[in-house]
Amino acid sequence: MRTFEFSRPENAAAAIKAAGQAKTAQQGADVRFVAGGTTLIDLMKLEVETPARLLDVNRLPFDKIEELPDGGLKIGATVRNSDLAYHSRVQRDYAVLSQAILSGASAQLRNMATTAGNLLQRTRCVYFRDTAMPCNKREPGTGCPAITGSNRTLAILGTSEHCIATNPSDMCVAMAALEATIHVDGLKGFRAIPIGDFHLLPGSTPHRETVLEPGDLVTHVTLPPPRSGSRQVYLKLRDRASYEFALASAAVVLNIAGGSISYVRIALGGVGTKPWRSPEAEAALAGKPANAANFRKAAEAALRNAKPQSENKFKIELAKRCLVHALQTAAAG
Ligand SMILES: Cc1cc2nc3c(=O)[nH]c(=O)nc-3n(C[C@H](O)[C@H](O)[C@H](O)COP(=O)(O)OP(=O)(O)OC[C@H]3O[C@@H](n4cnc5c(N)ncnc54)[C@H](O)[C@@H]3O)c2cc1C
Ligand code: SF4
Repeated sequence: MRTFEFSRPENAAAAIKAAGQAKTAQQGADVRFVAGGTTLIDLMKLEVETPARLLDVNRLPFDKIEELPDGGLKIGATVRNSDLAYHSRVQRDYAVLSQAILSGASAQLRNMATTAGNLLQRTRCVYFRDTAMPCNKREPGTGCPAITGSNRTLAILGTSEHCIATNPSDMCVAMAALEATIHVDGLKGFRAIPIGDFHLLPGSTPHRETVLEPGDLVTHVTLPPPRSGSRQVYLKLRDRASYEFALASAAVVLNIAGGSISYVRIALGGVGTKPWRSPEAEAALAGKPANAANFRKAAEAALRNAKPQSENKFKIELAKRCLVHALQTAAAG
């Protein structure tokens, strides 16, 4: 019989030491942190995740949103998604993040879900969530039935022959466009990881989803100072208006000076195996007039390397239109 031991570590060092005993990293680890539990407990009920011990991090002092001296923002790992989305500084200066979080899940889930938990949420691929099926991400080397099976909602960017699972997070897409940094405390000390380096492409090791090592505890996320006068939009397209994951989404942070684009950051959701920053789309727009033709060129550049599967070719055009519309909305704002 599996034993679940809920301990309440008095401090982060104790939690890290305890989790450091895990034989593997976060993915499939036998000792796990639990925060809101909306991903982990869900997967434990399905027996997809089977940790022997859970370490409850909710009592650690990581529940604050604080101003940084440089004008940026420090977001604690256990800050609830709702508190982050409705924070006055986030709504004013990082609107794309507020919009992205509020487009996800439901009010009840957002009240439980935390910043770190959202960063580490797992794919919704149906085979991953069904232990009767093989899945390279869940059990390395067993195969990827999604490639020849049900793949309508799965990724078209960053895929490999071993896994085509989509990263489902909305929050992470906005954080990618905002160039957030993830701060981690671990057995070897503190690390600051740019969000673009935090999630891994599946390659031949889809079971490894992030750069975290056993014992690594996400302590907080920082956002750089806001871009003065930036226009920010998160647009999410999905099968139904609420309580649904993105088929395609776009996060846009844009400055326009004299009709031309002086600053732009673009990230896509619902289409990538990780939150998908698009330097190609940004390069296509830098210094160019903010008009429909250039927005379309940026969308073409963003999806140029898309590799669709049998059921999700429609995502290429959907993602392009999503990005164009997000850019148009931002430019009009
Ligand atoms: C029905 C449903 C619909 C949803 N819809 C959406 C949606 O539309 N968009 C969207 O983006 N998300 C959606 N979600 C996902 C939701 O956002 C995540 O479940 C949530 O953000 C996870 O946060 P949590 O705190 O509950 O994580 P947990 O379940 O507590 O943890 C998740 C993972 O993070 C690890 N972890 C937690 N805290 C730390 C830490 N401090 N350091 C290191 N590791 C840590 C855990 O070990 C675990 O592996 C949905 C979820 C459900 C159940
Ligand atoms: S796409 Fe990834 S998560 Fe889905 S079945 Fe294939 S290996 Fe598993």
